[in-house]
Amino acid sequence: MKQQSLWAVPLGGLGEFGMNMLVLRYGDDMIVVDAGMMFPEAELLGVDVVIPDITFLKQNRNALRAIVLTHGHEDHIGALPYILRDINVPIYGTEYTLALVKRRLEEHGLLDQATLREVKTPSVALGTSGRKIQIGAFEIEYIYVTHSTIDCAALAIRTPIGVVIHTGDFKIDPTPTDLRPFDLHKFADYGQEGVLALFSDSTNVERAGYTPSERAVKPRLEELCRAAPRKVIVSCFASSIHRIQQVIEVAGMLGRKVGFVGRSMVDNVELSHSLSRLSIPDGIVVRPQDLKSFDPKKLVVLVSGSQAEPMSSLSRLAVDNHRLLSVDENDTVILSSRIIPGNEKPIFRMIDHMFRRRALIYYEDGGRAPIHVSGHASQEELKLVLNLVRPKYFIPIHGEYRMLFRHAALARQVGTVSGEIFVIEDGQPIEFTEEGAYRREKVAAGRVLVDSGSLEEIEEVVIRDRQHLSEDGVVVPIIAIDKHTGTVEGSPEIVNRGFLSSDDGQEVMAGAREVVLRTIEQSNPEEMADWSVIKEKIRVDLKRYLNKQTAKRPLILPVILEV
Ligand SMILES: [Zn+2]
Repeated sequence: MKQQSLWAVPLGGLGEFGMNMLVLRYGDDMIVVDAGMMFPEAELLGVDVVIPDITFLKQNRNALRAIVLTHGHEDHIGALPYILRDINVPIYGTEYTLALVKRRLEEHGLLDQATLREVKTPSVALGTSGRKIQIGAFEIEYIYVTHSTIDCAALAIRTPIGVVIHTGDFKIDPTPTDLRPFDLHKFADYGQEGVLALFSDSTNVERAGYTPSERAVKPRLEELCRAAPRKVIVSCFASSIHRIQQVIEVAGMLGRKVGFVGRSMVDNVELSHSLSRLSIPDGIVVRPQDLKSFDPKKLVVLVSGSQAEPMSSLSRLAVDNHRLLSVDENDTVILSSRIIPGNEKPIFRMIDHMFRRRALIYYEDGGRAPIHVSGHASQEELKLVLNLVRPKYFIPIHGEYRMLFRHAALARQVGTVSGEIFVIEDGQPIEFTEEGAYRREKVAAGRVLVDSGSLEEIEEVVIRDRQHLSEDGVVVPIIAIDKHTGTVEGSPEIVNRGFLSSDDGQEVMAGAREVVLRTIEQSNPEEMADWSVIKEKIRVDLKRYLNKQTAKRPLILPVILEV
């Protein structure tokens, strides 16, 4: 890499939702902004976590100085445990963000070896804005932004050839519940000074207008709680501290007590309360073990699991399989969160179960007053940021390709970007020099699939096997071979699961036995001496035969028994 130029290399989040990660390099200094994960689509069977490919980071590990975090959502911090096993550099973030990171690293037994450096939460109101940190060639200022969780920041990164602004995730909320507003002034200041490049959140670029303030949900929450004949169960993301705060306020106002159910909900409430970022009036909390016996007319319970995650508290409540709580007739259930595309099926199945229990269910229904508001900026807010920052170059980030594309179009319409607008995806570097900005040769990028239990990377071939298994089942031919003579004993047995029923399958399976026998007959003694060769030949021949007979491709696992 040439000196005197700045490289930006996106490794995640450009072209998909989640696993956000952007590398910046100047000379021999490299930093990473965010290290996120994403949840797998349903076709990635059994995969728990998807993280960015960090080959590029490993190749440049000598230059890597730090990982700098914008906020504590999983799609910004979730890959840290996997990355830290290979690369150990200091991690910077705000108080709440690092508290979440700490918990995550602790779960993975990595906390001892990690170096966490807290950046004071910037806030005009608290007089803590404007603090800067120096990392190699980069001087970084955290700028307070509003979002669905707390302690979120945009980054102004000063490099020798200009300032880069990375918005993180944001919306512009003039009335956040914690009275810490989006720091418009800082954005304007940097715009005044001159900004080399702006990297901005594209998540909600398809929505016109302004995203409503977090406070917009309060009237509906209040209305529903007021009308509730019995207990109220509210589910939202456990990191939505603003939302949790409002539910507590509404409950307090209506003389109801509050309970918390679900590990992530309880953890996040404790954490944000211990950091004085969540205010819980004395005497309002009902202990989990007392919830079942508490007067339901006087109760609001916050529960995690709004996305119907399989073992979450809300999913278990829906099928009446929770130790601490139940959903009963005329209980009010409020899903105060977005139904994330891809999760519709399990969520609506859960909602159906609640209706069967004759509960009163409310979810994002386009009703008069919102039951949920987004944490991401809509078009007018995105335009405002483009107007304030007036960058030379603009790169839309955080979104699928169409959103990046539409954000670029929006920027052209605003007309405040003086240079080029780059719609790029993961692995496409841009080099910024005094003369201009240029696309450079692609670097390794992509997704890595992880089984969270084992922390092991899963290869694509494993996923393919799981797909075969789920679609076409498994076929296990069992062949007994006499160890003295090397000949087959009796007829091969063929076991199948999830492939053909025993009635339909009789004929096909008889044919399959013949295929196996023929394969063995046609093998020479050398092949017969090596069982892995024989197994592979049987597998290939059977696959061809079964596919021809049934048009299916089950997983075939030959077994040879020595007798
Ligand atoms: Zn976020």
